[in-house]
Amino acid sequence: MKDVMSDGVSHKLLDGRRAAVEILAGVARDAAGLAEQGWAPRLVSVTVGEAQAVAVYVRNQRRRAEANGIAFEEHNFAADVSRAEIVAALRAMNSDPRITGVIIQRPVPEHLSIRDLQMAIHPLKDVEGMHPASIGNIVYNDLDLAPCTALASVELLKRTSLTLKGLEVVVIGHSEIVGKPIAFMLMAEGATVTVCHHMTRNLALHSRRADAVFVAVGKPGLVTGEMIKPGAAVIDIGINQMADGSIVGDADFDSCAEVAGWITPVPGGVGPVTVAILMRNAVTAAKRQKAHYDKAFSPEEFAA
Ligand code: NAD
Repeated sequence: MKDVMSDGVSHKLLDGRRAAVEILAGVARDAAGLAEQGWAPRLVSVTVGEAQAVAVYVRNQRRRAEANGIAFEEHNFAADVSRAEIVAALRAMNSDPRITGVIIQRPVPEHLSIRDLQMAIHPLKDVEGMHPASIGNIVYNDLDLAPCTALASVELLKRTSLTLKGLEVVVIGHSEIVGKPIAFMLMAEGATVTVCHHMTRNLALHSRRADAVFVAVGKPGLVTGEMIKPGAAVIDIGINQMADGSIVGDADFDSCAEVAGWITPVPGGVGPVTVAILMRNAVTAAKRQKAHYDKAFSPEEFAA
């Protein structure tokens, strides 16, 4: 990477850890304000069966939550829990005013559908932004409770000096959780968006004319420097564990960094911002619930 300044820091690097610290400072302020008004945010993390695979994620979420004034509870259901039983438990969380957000940790056993469970969470408590109502709101340019990774990726693009209005953006990967919401969010910001996926004929043809490339595929080295327009931003969402245990993204960092104007590292890019956005969503959800109750119990509503 050429653009390393005398302080040893690359000013091309979109540092996710630094962005996360800034976002979490706002979260801590908002959480304290909510607590003063009797609306202390409380997250519930739901795991089903053996939770070892996600233990590190959950621990990280707990740490970020508690450090910023958000209570964090863990509920583990048996691997053979019935759909009826877990849906009933989620509905009970929906009607418990002390719980302001619910996270369903993936994966869930095959006899359950993650989408079905996400739909059982009330949209006002959908801190992951995965309920169809939250996804639908993005189409209406209401981006406050959008899926965390998508929001985090767009947040990092906003930390470049690029103007989103009219920006040529290519999104590689069109999953419901990452690629598609990124595309909708960028359209809401005024960008011109092209979405590529595994059936796209010539990926480089698209990526080379983009001012910003988002890649969320799960294939190390998919995007190389020759596929990037000089000066473009590269936002790498991929997380790939290599045989030697190291973690890399979907972009070949060294060749992309040679030509890119900005690039996110992996790890240390989108990942830490995603957790920070989950916490921001947690306070946004609590604020919305407060507003909902305030309105429902206002004298005007009673009089109506
Ligand atoms: P997914 O498997 O649901 O979707 C993969 C997408 O890549 C699909 O749209 C598919 O069409 C596309 N694709 C596959 N091969 C392609 C190719 N050769 N060229 C172009 N497109 C191709 O994956 P996902 O859940 O969206 O996750 C994608 C990556 O992002 C994974 O590495 C995952 O670990 C990572 N991820 C990171 C975070 C984070 O917080 N940083 C969160 C979620 C996912």
